[in-house]
Amino acid sequence: MKRREFIRYTAVGLGALSLAPTVSLAAVASLKRVVVVGGGFGGLTAARYLRRFNPAIEVVLIERNEKFYSCPISNWVMVGKWPMKDISFSYDSLAGQGIKVVRDEIIGLDAAAGYVQGKAGRYAYDRLVVSPGIDFRDELIEGYDQRAKNAFPHAWHAGPQTLQLQQELTALPAGGTVMMTVPASPYRCPPGPYERASLIADYLKLNKPGARLIVVDPHPHIASKTALFQSAWDDYYQDVIDYRTEQTIMGVNVDKKSIMTQSGEISADVINLIPSQKAAALAFTLGLVPDGEMWAPVKARTLESKRIPGVYVIGDATDARTSGPMPKSGYVANSMGKVVAAAIVAELAGKNVPIPWFANTCYSMVSMSEAIYITGVYQYDAALDTTITINEGTKVSSGRSALYGRYAEDWGPAIWSDMLGI
Ligand SMILES: Cc1cc2nc3c(=O)[nH]c(=O)nc-3n(C[C@H](O)[C@H](O)[C@H](O)COP(=O)(O)OP(=O)(O)OC[C@H]3O[C@@H](n4cnc5c(N)ncnc54)[C@H](O)[C@@H]3O)c2cc1C
Repeated sequence: MKRREFIRYTAVGLGALSLAPTVSLAAVASLKRVVVVGGGFGGLTAARYLRRFNPAIEVVLIERNEKFYSCPISNWVMVGKWPMKDISFSYDSLAGQGIKVVRDEIIGLDAAAGYVQGKAGRYAYDRLVVSPGIDFRDELIEGYDQRAKNAFPHAWHAGPQTLQLQQELTALPAGGTVMMTVPASPYRCPPGPYERASLIADYLKLNKPGARLIVVDPHPHIASKTALFQSAWDDYYQDVIDYRTEQTIMGVNVDKKSIMTQSGEISADVINLIPSQKAAALAFTLGLVPDGEMWAPVKARTLESKRIPGVYVIGDATDARTSGPMPKSGYVANSMGKVVAAAIVAELAGKNVPIPWFANTCYSMVSMSEAIYITGVYQYDAALDTTITINEGTKVSSGRSALYGRYAEDWGPAIWSDMLGI
């Protein structure tokens, strides 16, 4: 078996196989329709696995964008390690798998009547799955208007901003300065900013003599895979990375190309400002987030919303105090997609919902060729009615290596294949 297939059938696929409830087609009396909103890591997985666990269910996937751009691997694209086309996917593969894909933006919900409202149409459902991802807490940064967003792109949604930063890095003069900011926790992909910093630092070292990278971080130290990133930065980037901790981003000034922290003003030629985050706007619009909160609470066993029956929330938008101690990662969103599919298929058939478990494997490049990794396994504990970390499943790589870098190259295509059926 090729390594890629092995990863696919073990690391990515195990959750699904052990969760799949055995439901015969006859068990579902009449055709049921599940609407899935959001064609990213969580939504794509849920849509595919609903059909896989019970092909009699009608599945409609609603996504506002024409293409899916993968955030994982987008840091590599930013520094020219991989081309953009390798992280860009159409939704065409889903039609052949019995999933109806609709391009629309959802703007409302009538749970009593059982439909979601889009800009282009109205979609009735028996069960609704929402995996809308994240948005940004713009209001925390003074002056962070549309002009500032264009000038200091976050690229925390992969796509055009990934290419914008790539072009800005290419245009940087030798001896120039790049600045990037780390969002406050909790945020999408805890190791992501540090992978990005490592790759930008290596890019500058290789291509822009004398250039520097200022990393502005609200945390007291690197917030994920701490020792592994720190060791790589100490060994490789002491002359490149200027790491400033416990800094709160308070404002921006586009004309001066600067940001303000409590320690003063910092300016740079290229600025990658990644603001603090909250559940995507859709979760607020649909009433899935309580007043004053930032994330959507769910029931740990089924991922059904604690606020609206029949509506399930998965992926980064969930409140980790309710969904479990998993990081906001694509791998976890993929696990959640399988868990929610199994729960809905069982519920529609009047069966017990299987005990869910979740997995996470996350590689981060610390240079153009070397990677580090972390794994985690989590299981629902019925006695506690909460999801807990299984300690035996937690592993951090003993160091960095080019071999892990090659594993990281296989990780992306394996999980995209699981989500899109390609
Ligand atoms: C730079 C970077 C690197 C990363 N690297 C990794 C990694 O190596 N490994 C890993 O596991 N994770 C990684 N992640 C994290 C991963 O990208 C997210 O955890 C994952 O995308 C979450 O999936 P999701 O389904 O919650 O949201 P998304 O994948 O963002 O999907 C949300 C979808 O919902 C759609 N949507 C939102 N609102 C509406 C609406 N109103 N109507 C219709 N559609 C709507 C959006 O267009 C989007 O397609 C990385 C993230 C970043 C930014």
